[in-house]
Order: sequence, then structure tokens, then C-alpha cells
Amino acid sequence: MMENINKIAEVIKNHDDFLIASHENPDGDAIGSMAALGYILKVMGKRFTLFNDSEIPDKFKWFTMPGPVLREYQPGRHSWIIVLDCGNFQRSGKKLSQNAAEPIINIDHHRGNPEFGEINWVDISFSSVGEMIAELADHLNIKINLPMAESIYLALVSDTGFFSFGNTSARVHDLSARLIRDGVNPDLINSKILNQWTIERIHLHGMAMQKALLHLDGLVGIISVSRKMLHETGAVLDDCEGLVNAVRNIKGVQVAISLREDEQNKIKYSLRSTGDTNVQLIAAELDGGGHKNASGGIIQGDMIKARERIMDVVTRHLKA
Ligand code: 5GP
Ligand code: MN
Repeated sequence: MMENINKIAEVIKNHDDFLIASHENPDGDAIGSMAALGYILKVMGKRFTLFNDSEIPDKFKWFTMPGPVLREYQPGRHSWIIVLDCGNFQRSGKKLSQNAAEPIINIDHHRGNPEFGEINWVDISFSSVGEMIAELADHLNIKINLPMAESIYLALVSDTGFFSFGNTSARVHDLSARLIRDGVNPDLINSKILNQWTIERIHLHGMAMQKALLHLDGLVGIISVSRKMLHETGAVLDDCEGLVNAVRNIKGVQVAISLREDEQNKIKYSLRSTGDTNVQLIAAELDGGGHKNASGGIIQGDMIKARERIMDVVTRHLKA
């Protein structure tokens, strides 16, 4: 691990003009880690371009990025591509993963990352890639300034569920304390991160929660959102985020599942577990990925088929 972070620090010191990318439909870790690295490169006087295949979700529009986030990639214009928070290269989207012309630095914390870069720093002991970028700043001898600290904080709270998931280590709390000393105001920033709901989103959550179901004597909770429900409430796809936690909150649930109909015959699933149940293994069987307690992916097929397939794999894992 040490060796690869040193290699990355050397590449950054010795080159200029980087492309910084993260996964499509970016979450707080993807956005926070991209921003933090951009702010570091800025302090170092390096040129960089931020790239994401998707538009930045509305709920992050308040957050100041260190530069515009482009949605187009021009092959060959950069020295290196730095890919953040992507469990595999396809997660960065087709525009980049099918056309990448520069060497790749892969910084990630997902189990099963195939190490697709020329340099790979993959360490599942990190709560978030934001936490890894803080470590990188230290290796580069860059003092963490307020914009970096806020970016790293966004990544930390997003991936630890505000310091509640199993990845909330003492190291995470140490870093968080340090970020607060660097000027982060938890009250202000947490309310900006959390209070971004629209009325449409509330209506969607209400509708979905009413239809939540339990299986296997209450060990599995499942919640689904169809195109029709999105249409009726006026909510957008991203508004489904967090629904899986509603079923996880049910007493006795070991595996929480949410299903979202992105398109006809394309179902996005999210899996969450508490404790020892490893939902990364379940997602891997369904060609998805993630972490022990949080994973996800896509199933081709309608809602009923997707539910059957997922319940089949989940049942097998829980009975094993
Ligand atoms: P979520 O359910 O919030 O979308 O994702 C939970 C975790 O699963 C995240 O760490 C995310 O990176 C991973 N994940 C979600 N969707 C996919 C996917 O399509 N492929 C892979 N490999 N991982 C995914
Ligand atoms: Mn992450």
C-alpha cells in the first residue's frame, strides 16, 4: 500500500494536466474525493480537468467544486487519468472507460476492484476515497485547507452514513476531528448535505414505504420504485437514494433491498446489511459490486424477474 501511494505522489509531483474522474451518478464520496484532489492539485499549481459521465445531482449544487465538471472526455489531452471510487473501470461510464488513452491511476476502496490502472491504490480498510485523499495530501506535504477539508468531510459522512456504518473506524473519527480543527462547521455542512429533499421526494418515499414488504420471517426487507411511481409523484431517479435504509431500519432485518426501475427491463438494485452478512458477495453473483454492508448493481429484466432473481440469491446466502 505504502509503495503505491508513494508512486502516486511521485507521478503527481512530476507531471501536469490530469484528468480526475469518478463514477457515474456520483455520490458524496465521488464528488468529495474529486473536489479534494482538485483542490490539492490547485495548491500545487497543477492543471487538471474534472470529468463525470453524469450531471452533478441537484442535491450537490450548493457544493463548490474546484473547477467545472465536464461531461465530455477528449482522449490524449492529459498526462494521466486519476479514477476515484470506481470498483471497476466501467463505473466511470462509457465515454471514459471505452476511450481512455492516457495511463490510469486507480484510487479506490471497493472489495474486488480488478486493479485496472497502471498504478493501483486499492484498500478496503478505508471508509471512503475521501479518506484516502486526505492520506495522499499528507504524503504530498500539502496542508489541508478549508475547501479540501469540506470536500473530505462530505466524502466521509456520505460513505459512513454520518459515522454510523461498520466502516466508521477510530481513524475516521480522528480525521473528522482534524477536519473540524481545519475549520469545517459540522452543523452548517451537515444541514446542507442532509436538507436537500424536495416535496416530490417525500411523496415518493411515502408511497414506496407503504408498499415495503418483509420476506424470510422478517430477515429481508424489500422496497421498490416503478416508473409509474416516479411519474405519479414527479420525483426523479436520484430521489430513491436512502430508501434502502428505510427497510434496513426495520427491527430484525438482516438484508435490506431496494429496487428501482431505471428503464423498462433495467432494474437498479441496492443491498444493505447489518453485521456479518456480506452483501458484496450477493451483488457479485448478480454482476454488481460494492462493500460488505453496502452493494449494488443492475439487473436486466422487469421488476418481478429482478425481485425473483435477487431473492433467490439472498435466500441461498442467508440459509448457508
Ligand atoms: P448504492 O446501492 O448506494 O448504489 O451502492 C452501494 C455500493 O455498491 C457502492 O459502494 C457502489 O459503489 C456499489 N455499486 C452500486 N452499483 C454498482 C454497480 O453497478 N456495479 C458495481 N461494481 N458496484 C456498484
Ligand atoms: Mn466510496
